[in-house]
Amino acid sequence: MKKSTFLRLICPRCRNLQIVFGKSSMNVKCLKCNYLLARKSGGKARLRAQVHEVLWN
Ligand SMILES: [Zn+2]
Repeated sequence: MKKSTFLRLICPRCRNLQIVFGKSSMNVKCLKCNYLLARKSGGKARLRAQVHEVLWN
């Protein structure tokens, strides 16, 4: 059985905590400062921020 993963990332620029879908195929930007937290790369998100917590759905 396959599970969806959500990651709680810390923005390295403003320390904002933001939840990101682990298999996102879209660019994810920080809502506060617009820093690019995850960049699409094939079918997987390429993270550019530290993972604070992994959340299972
Ligand atoms: Zn930020």
